[in-house]
Amino acid sequence: MRLSRYFLPVLKENPAEAQIVSHRLMLRAGMIKQQAAGIYSWLPLGYRVLRRIEQIVHEEQQRAGHIPLLMPTLQPADLWRESGRYDDYGQEMLRIKDRHDRDMLYGPTNEEMITDIFRSHVNSYKDLPLTLYHIQWKFRDEVRPRFGVMRGREFLMKDGYNFDLTREDALHAYNRHMVSYLRTYERMGLTAIPMRAASGPIGGDNTHEFLVLASTGESEVFYDAKVPELKLGDRQVNYDDRDEVAKICAEFTSAYARTDETHDEAVFNQIPEDRRRVGRGIEVGQIFYFGTKYSEAMGATVVTPDGSRVPVEMGSHGIGVSRLLGAIIEASHDDKGIIWPEGVTPFHAGIVNLKQGDVSTDSACEAIYGALKARGLDPLYDDRDERAGAKFATMDLIGLPWRITVGPRGIANNMVELTCRRTGEAEEMSPEAAVARVAAIYEGV
Ligand code: ATP
Ligand code: MG
Repeated sequence: MRLSRYFLPVLKENPAEAQIVSHRLMLRAGMIKQQAAGIYSWLPLGYRVLRRIEQIVHEEQQRAGHIPLLMPTLQPADLWRESGRYDDYGQEMLRIKDRHDRDMLYGPTNEEMITDIFRSHVNSYKDLPLTLYHIQWKFRDEVRPRFGVMRGREFLMKDGYNFDLTREDALHAYNRHMVSYLRTYERMGLTAIPMRAASGPIGGDNTHEFLVLASTGESEVFYDAKVPELKLGDRQVNYDDRDEVAKICAEFTSAYARTDETHDEAVFNQIPEDRRRVGRGIEVGQIFYFGTKYSEAMGATVVTPDGSRVPVEMGSHGIGVSRLLGAIIEASHDDKGIIWPEGVTPFHAGIVNLKQGDVSTDSACEAIYGALKARGLDPLYDDRDERAGAKFATMDLIGLPWRITVGPRGIANNMVELTCRRTGEAEEMSPEAAVARVAAIYEGV
């Protein structure tokens, strides 16, 4: 992309309405525009990151054997009357009437609808196990939408639902989700800690929330210092191997990590004092096992091997796709702007031309731009007729992890500068070497 032809409405001033750094930076970097309280347009740069996050979520879900589909945003109230949640859900549910005076709602989640799909089409244990998921907009009429996309009213969520014959099978599905979530967040450059949580309106006795540590997080968290050190890394996981998956879950959940809702001071105090940590966290996902709560209420049953009929065992599992943008920025920024992890960056590298209109720098930039594209990468070339300082400030603000700077003096010696956004370290090398280096960095991402 050439910046002169892009739509990147950066703001010079700090927007007054933004209370936390991620909201401020998303507005300043021209990623989002608020249209109503908690409702945003995703401008091109923000939309790019949103799509990359979605892509990672899709890949990791499908790696775990989960099947994508797409359910609508609007739902008939009758489905929710069957589960009893139409009345229970309260004011967070946006209720709508259509022209025939039928009660509709903008889905805050999809347990009822997926259970309806299941009961219409699945009849036998032979069709299990089954996990279906979608990535779709949700609406929750939050009392206090705030912090930009972190607590919106309309927000993008991945929600997945497992259907199993037995409790053991459903607990394997739960564990499988836990491990696939750990990998999902790691690919985004995040450490998200699974913490035992309270279940809330979804119901069920087994649930973990995934929290990203950040001082601006809305949840108070208590944990053993060794927990954030745990990494899945590039371990290959066989998601069908129950023992292997359960072992990884045990590794990540045996040390103390809880939110204020489940915190137990006595147990916490058994951790050696120098490892006890109290902090704040952003909830970026939650997994639930709830057994037959919805299948019983809605008559979703399957025939078992002995010919009897039982309600199917279920769980639901959510990732806050749009909230993740805020969480990533909270975890990765400095006073100049965002620092995107390579896994989610909107463009792989920036190219800064220090002297637009100069024949040698222009042609070197074009060559680098073409070479990066030829390697399957998306560069952002700042080809505007602007001062170098302004170009650097924009690149730092929008946070591309790598920048190639091309100036007339350097290019006379066939040299450009490759700068790492995170460390600020710069290295001189030939344009070819810079392209090769950037390509190599993204090979494993
Ligand atoms: P919270 O406690 O933050 O209100 P929740 O527990 O009600 O969230 P879930 O039903 O667990 O939310 O939804 C799954 C994920 O969707 C959450 O972990 C969170 O990342 C995201 N999410 C929930 N509510 C919002 C919101 N208002 N804006 C953005 N993302 C949200
Ligand atoms: Mg939750």
